[in-house]
Amino acid sequence: TLSDRLSGVFTNLRGKGRLTPADVDRTCREIRVALLEADVALPVVRAFIARIKERANGVIVSAALNPAQQIIKIVNEELVAILGGETRRLTYAKNPPTVIMLAGLQGAGKTTLAGKLALWLKGQGHTPLLVASDLQRPNAVTQLQIVGEQAGVQVFAPEPGNGVGDPVAVARAGVAHAKVRLHDIVIVDTAGRLGVDADMMQQAVDIRDAVQPQEILFVLDAMVGQDAVTTAEAFRDGVGFNGVVLTKLDGDARGGAALSVRHVTGQPIMFASTGEKLADFDVFHPDRMASRILGMGDMLTLIEQAEQHFEADQAEAMAAKMAGNEFTLEDFLEQMMMIRKMGPIGGLLGMLPGAGQMKDALANVDDRDIDRTAAIIQSMTPAERQDPKIINASRRQRIARGSGSTVSQVNALVERFFEARKMMSSMAGRFGFPGARPSNR
Ligand code: GDP
Ligand code: MG
Repeated sequence: TLSDRLSGVFTNLRGKGRLTPADVDRTCREIRVALLEADVALPVVRAFIARIKERANGVIVSAALNPAQQIIKIVNEELVAILGGETRRLTYAKNPPTVIMLAGLQGAGKTTLAGKLALWLKGQGHTPLLVASDLQRPNAVTQLQIVGEQAGVQVFAPEPGNGVGDPVAVARAGVAHAKVRLHDIVIVDTAGRLGVDADMMQQAVDIRDAVQPQEILFVLDAMVGQDAVTTAEAFRDGVGFNGVVLTKLDGDARGGAALSVRHVTGQPIMFASTGEKLADFDVFHPDRMASRILGMGDMLTLIEQAEQHFEADQAEAMAAKMAGNEFTLEDFLEQMMMIRKMGPIGGLLGMLPGAGQMKDALANVDDRDIDRTAAIIQSMTPAERQDPKIINASRRQRIARGSGSTVSQVNALVERFFEARKMMSSMAGRFGFPGARPSNR
């Protein structure tokens, strides 16, 4: 999947101290291939890669993040941007009813969406009316009626006298009905074809002109690949729309449709449909989608927290020490304090690849533990703190007495220290501990 491919790209960056232009080029090439394989449209891929390249080359070595993390951050931000940044909300008519027209190919999920949208709007205190203007497909009206019943909203269906066989007349009559019955929103379900088709497009145009919707939502099955772009363009040029709804995001959509549609059509993705049940529906959140595409929710949280909480100076100094293997017991103590201050991020360390033991060594510390560690370390001579290797059996006894702890507690601390130091120099070479630069070993 796209997520797998992207995390592969980032794995190739681990252990990099700084990014050379060659690294950036190679990384961009790999991201490009990953996007193309996920059926993202070529112009979108080009624009995306250009942005990544520009930003990655401008990256200044940061204290809080290592290069792999910085690239992940950039890619994430650009994904959010290409998915539309902020979510656009529905606009409502000054004089109700607000008319929302659904357009899209057959099977895209329009009728299901009509029910989902109605339920969601009803939950916000609106009184939506569903209008069955798909008279093409056998049972389309019945399907809408079932969906309406599930949502607990009324459905306007053609009857003798109000336009049997004429979807435009039904739409017009439906809106008139809504005015009389004080429905504040009308959702018009329309017919689709299996492929883009002139008759279907004309019918959609006629319905549009008859009811003048505030919102025309183009409903797009996220599972379709490169065709998504052609279809979206055909609807943009044929009927026009001012919002997109992505459906079937619960399937193993490759991400191409989601990433392309906004850029290609210039219209925002507004809602996401994520299952067959009416409740499987939400406002579209570009940031959530981006982190889903990256498949790195935990990493992104960590990056954010690391940036927020990590004191750059300390990190810088610590990283230098780790790299030079000069990490001392005093640093160890300082690190424990820092982790305590960071709070939950200590727990997040465990989510990093290979950091499980690091977490055991450092993050599972409670306050008493830190106090005892502090007492033990303070009972050491400066020479011992700088070079714990000299702490032999008789020194251990002296330190234990001086700190009011047992020899085995002193032993445990010294062991933990060596363990942590080993862990840190290996971690410094991975995507890492926030701020850690790879060691040169
Ligand atoms: P329409 O032809 O555009 O009206 O599409 P329908 O609403 O009839 O949906 C076509 C099929 O897709 C139906 O079997 C729906 O149950 C299914 N469907 C619609 N939306 C979703 C979704 O978000 N996830 C999944 N898994 N199935 C969906
Ligand atoms: Mg339908």
